Amino acid sequence: MPKNIKLAKFAGFCYGVKRAVETAKKLKSENPDKNVFVLGELIHNTDVINELEQLGIKTINEVPDKGDGICVVRSHGESPEIIDKIRRAGFELVDLTCPDVKKVQQKAIELAKDDYFVVIVGKSEHPEVVGINANARLWSNNVVVASSVEQLKDYEKAIKAHKKVGVVVQTTQMLRTLNPIVEYLTSISKELHVANTICQSTAMRQSEAKELAKESDLMIVVGSKKSANTTHLAEILKNITKTIHIENDTELDNYKDVIGSSANISITAGASTPQNVIEKVIEKIK
Ligand code: SF4
Repeated sequence: MPKNIKLAKFAGFCYGVKRAVETAKKLKSENPDKNVFVLGELIHNTDVINELEQLGIKTINEVPDKGDGICVVRSHGESPEIIDKIRRAGFELVDLTCPDVKKVQQKAIELAKDDYFVVIVGKSEHPEVVGINANARLWSNNVVVASSVEQLKDYEKAIKAHKKVGVVVQTTQMLRTLNPIVEYLTSISKELHVANTICQSTAMRQSEAKELAKESDLMIVVGSKKSANTTHLAEILKNITKTIHIENDTELDNYKDVIGSSANISITAGASTPQNVIEKVIEKIK
């Protein structure tokens, strides 16, 4: 069957991830004699992590008591406690928290300081949410994390007792998660302030992919299964057309039948997917 293959414009690295990867590489090349560590995986992509390792940029999962060299905070951000620990260990800190994530942290702090009951929409174990939560909790104990109305119902009494409720959203969440939460909070709170902090890069990627899905027999989403924004993207598209989520071109072998029977195929990719991985997928489909 003849194939019409389209690649989304907003596929692959967002500016926050691009900035983090490029800056980490630059730090090492400008400081060849210094240790360069990244706390947690810089991005959810094994190939990129391996490439960084080869350049001498090591991933660490915990801050040691004593450190020597540079320690990078990745685009997800960190809690003030961890930032402090990095400095106390003796590292030179390079904070590559994405400016969009910083904005969410600042907004959550503002709301907490202003005596709002703060609701952070997202998954409590997501590293970005951990950082936002910890920043807000420095100012108030009235801060909760929820990714569904069900979870929020546990706090209904506390929310009703509070004068003002403020909402921030983890940057890669979906509107369809935020909307029912806002609707529920509207029904139980006296005053509600919602800061839609879903990042523009995510919003544009999702809306472009939705349009492409409407005219495609098959959508291929390329990116790590550990990446929240890539997984969300695939979930959204599954509601519109046949969608497969693969990490790289080798996984295409599992989908030969569906690819073979699709005439219009569109490809998009998550924020942590490198360009060369996307290119290999296109090449293999062709
Ligand atoms: S997805 Fe958005 S918030 Fe997250 S790193 Fe990229 S630009 Fe920043």
